[in-house]
Amino acid sequence: MPDINECQICGAPAPLISGQCEEVAGYRLLRDPWASKPSFLDGNLHFSCLTESDQSALFFDEFTRMLRAGHEEVDSLDGSLPPLTRMGLGMTQIFSGAECCVFQSGVADRWVVVKRTGPWFRLGLEDVTELGRTITPNLTSDVVPYRLPIDLGSDVRELSLPGLLSALNVADRYEPDCVEYEAIDYYPPKLLLEYVARAPLRLPEEAVAFLSAYIERYTPVRHHDE
Ligand SMILES: [Zn+2]
Repeated sequence: MPDINECQICGAPAPLISGQCEEVAGYRLLRDPWASKPSFLDGNLHFSCLTESDQSALFFDEFTRMLRAGHEEVDSLDGSLPPLTRMGLGMTQIFSGAECCVFQSGVADRWVVVKRTGPWFRLGLEDVTELGRTITPNLTSDVVPYRLPIDLGSDVRELSLPGLLSALNVADRYEPDCVEYEAIDYYPPKLLLEYVARAPLRLPEEAVAFLSAYIERYTPVRHHDE
């Protein structure tokens, strides 16, 4: 079984940083184009690896299909019956450009921008409103638990993000200089590091232009209990 904490493309350590390294959960039932035998993706992807991969167009097709789909049947890994049921996100594509596509939720003020090279960015109403005011939103993260693949000693909490990524030999797969990073806790018996990271959202210009105009005539979703 591949380790979900490793990049599923290059196999190197892959701590999650919004906009630079993200996770695909196994229950999404996305075909893994990098696996040697039929598998579903389950784990992290360095966006730098995704962008450089020959398989990124395949990933884009599979990922955006899942975003649009509702419940749909997908073939099991060995083709045996019954097929599996994938729970897509039921989003609507509202923009298609040379570099990216934009999808919108039908039930909440949520958007996903997916670059044709694979990387994706989740946005909320506040983010898109900021784009409309020509502010670059920060991708905030909750506390991320990351199990270190090697023991870096208990001083690991003192490391900066560039220091941590260098110690893991993956500095070249990230752009740590623009990330606000803070280690929160470290649990040595499980090599479990907890941290928060905030990175500026870097979208293709065409997505920024589209969303800035779009948000001006957008009516936020209202729930009956509001
Ligand atoms: Zn990688």
